[in-house]
Amino acid sequence: SKARLLVVGGGYGGATAAKYIRLFSDYKIEVVLVEPNEAFVSCPISNLVVGGARQIQELTVPYTALRAKHGVTVVRDYVAGIDAAKRVATLASGASIAYDKLVLSPGIDLMWDSVAGLKEAHAAGQILQAWKAGPETVALRRQLEAMPDGGVYAITIPEAPYRCPPGPYERASVIASYFKQAKPRSKVLILDANQDVISKGPLFKKIWAEQYKGIIEYRPQHKAVAVDAKASTVKFEVQDDVKADVLNVLPSMRAGAIAVQTGLANSNGRWVGVNYLNFESTAAKDIHVLGDAIQIAPLMPKSGHMANSHAKVAAAAIVAELNGWEINPAPMLTNTCYSYVDTGKKVIHVASVHEYVAAEKTFKTVAGSGGVSAAPNELEATYAWNWARTIWSDALA
Ligand code: FAD
Repeated sequence: SKARLLVVGGGYGGATAAKYIRLFSDYKIEVVLVEPNEAFVSCPISNLVVGGARQIQELTVPYTALRAKHGVTVVRDYVAGIDAAKRVATLASGASIAYDKLVLSPGIDLMWDSVAGLKEAHAAGQILQAWKAGPETVALRRQLEAMPDGGVYAITIPEAPYRCPPGPYERASVIASYFKQAKPRSKVLILDANQDVISKGPLFKKIWAEQYKGIIEYRPQHKAVAVDAKASTVKFEVQDDVKADVLNVLPSMRAGAIAVQTGLANSNGRWVGVNYLNFESTAAKDIHVLGDAIQIAPLMPKSGHMANSHAKVAAAAIVAELNGWEINPAPMLTNTCYSYVDTGKKVIHVASVHEYVAAEKTFKTVAGSGGVSAAPNELEATYAWNWARTIWSDALA
């Protein structure tokens, strides 16, 4: 009988894998995609929704083309369990799906227990993360709109690795730009568990000093350990408590629950070790894991661009294996992360190229490749928006 490929998660990694397995197999391999959300909502660009410059609908893409054009069976459900030995997944609705190969791209889970009181404050809608795009992104925007002029917005950043290294710095910059226009007496506090700004550091710091002097304050080595929602404060391992009108507390992160629960998170109990030639889990056969959930090779960011690249390498390897084709892969992954530094006018980027080094079984950055912008500029704002539209069509159209 015909092979069946099950994809868990219709985000950057999963949607791309579903489409490319159909394309590379000449539409012969059956692909079933399970995703609880009705449509794809992009995290990239979502900081502009937080800053009020874009609407969430503009970042939302339906699964219609995956279904109608590419013949992917999209099931709106949640994978509750995977039996790796029997190759069967169980859905929250109770149904089960047998597979020959499984692609898992569940993204991240927020580790609520890493910050005491956060789970309850989040459930009550008081302290938000908005680190998965959707209704929470809009809710964070509402909190900023409701904040009086002269108020304080504070974002806490967990120790790396976490989803999207420049994302918190971008968000702080975009919000500062909004404050500068609409609430000029307000402040942005960046409370970072890391030693220093971990992505595009010199550029971000220059921008904060030049454009947001007196608005943005950056404090490194601030590891959040608890929140008090009533008092609207956050507590740190070492430093004094901080009170803010809008608290945006990002806890530590790990691979999505289904990966952890299936026993795949064999790197610190947080991330999934994979064979970088085909992204197969090192803990279970026939399960290929993509995107933010994996243990990354040195200098590989947890980004949508990377997840999209992983998906194509995995799709090629899976289609070859199911067809019995001999391939000799030498994967080369690319990444570009654009960051807005205001509410949509100017952008900076960081780019890199990662080459598989067979002797070391890992990816290494190619010497002389990549780099960062010289300065914020308007041309890259066009590039950033077109990057997003292009990658959405690549994965979903
Ligand atoms: P996701 O895209 O999150 O997809 C995971 C999907 O799996 C979700 O749809 C989820 O509902 C589903 N799922 C989870 N568990 C199950 C289950 N058990 N059953 C079924 N479905 C399940 N990256 C960039 O490249 N460029 C950027 O400019 C950029 N900006 C960002 C800005 C912000 C504010 C944030 C938060 C992130 C940004 N990123 C950016 C990072 C990017 O969003 C992630 O790296 C990317 O989404 C990872 O893809 P993924 O497939 O691993 O996870």
